[in-house]
Amino acid sequence: MGKIIEFENVSFRYEADEEGQQLPLAVKNISLGIEEGSFVAVLGHNGSGKSTFAKLTNAINIPESGKVTVNGLDTADENNTDEIRRTVGMVFQNPDNQIVATIVEDDVAFGPENLGVEPKEIRRRVDDALKAVNMYDFRNSEPYKLSGGQKQRVAIAGVIAMQTRCIVLDEPTAMLDPNGRKEVLATIKRLNKERGITVVLVTHFMDEAVQADRVVVIDNGEVYADGTPREVFSKADELIAVGLDVPQATQLAKALKAQGVDIRTDILNEEECIQAVMKLLKE
Ligand code: ADP
Ligand code: MG
Repeated sequence: MGKIIEFENVSFRYEADEEGQQLPLAVKNISLGIEEGSFVAVLGHNGSGKSTFAKLTNAINIPESGKVTVNGLDTADENNTDEIRRTVGMVFQNPDNQIVATIVEDDVAFGPENLGVEPKEIRRRVDDALKAVNMYDFRNSEPYKLSGGQKQRVAIAGVIAMQTRCIVLDEPTAMLDPNGRKEVLATIKRLNKERGITVVLVTHFMDEAVQADRVVVIDNGEVYADGTPREVFSKADELIAVGLDVPQATQLAKALKAQGVDIRTDILNEEECIQAVMKLLKE
């Protein structure tokens, strides 16, 4: 499949501060493509440029130099903005800032209404989107009564109802409890696997990143590592050097190895760690 988003030598800086002092580049010379249908995690410590990168994918930020294209359309051309936002939807960290209506289904309808979709089709899309995120039973609820995870799923439904082919989520689980995090991640994965929606998930949780097809690590505005989770997390020392963790199961395998245990160190999750330890016990 082709690339739905393409970055070519993209740099970006925010407007100068009040004293007119030019700020440093927040994103530097990033080149990468996002394959249609893939699930990409973007990692990096605070201030590394993840949100700036995310906002470059749907014309919220426009490159200072270089080029971003969505489905071949240049984000710098204002004539393309509507089509780009119909292709790439965004979900942000704080669910409370994204919900605009007082009833769940009205909130999900808001996006397609703005696109001028006809009422019957809106009804169909809202029901479909709420079912897709397992929130259909809450369609008549008041959003403020929902948990953080439920609100975030309503926000995701809002994007689904616009029928965007790609969803970019900027730390959507950062403010959620462990249960809410699990619900949201399961929803994202399901939309990717079952509907083929391209997912770009900005996160600082390693256990979320290991579930992606690809992990891009951003440090100081630049791409620091890019590969499968196994490739990226096998370089634990390099990740720690840029202020990131490695998954707990990977850390445990590394610690065992350091003690002379003959164990693989490219382990990504508990299940793989259990398998590797069981194998050792049998030998
Ligand atoms: P992350 O999402 O990885 O925490 P950001 O993309 O938000 O990082 O920030 C990257 C850099 O840009 C940081 O140095 C941050 O301080 C700066 N920055 C972010 N937003 C703005 C803004 N609106 N104006 C000026 N500087 C900003
Ligand atoms: Mg951020």
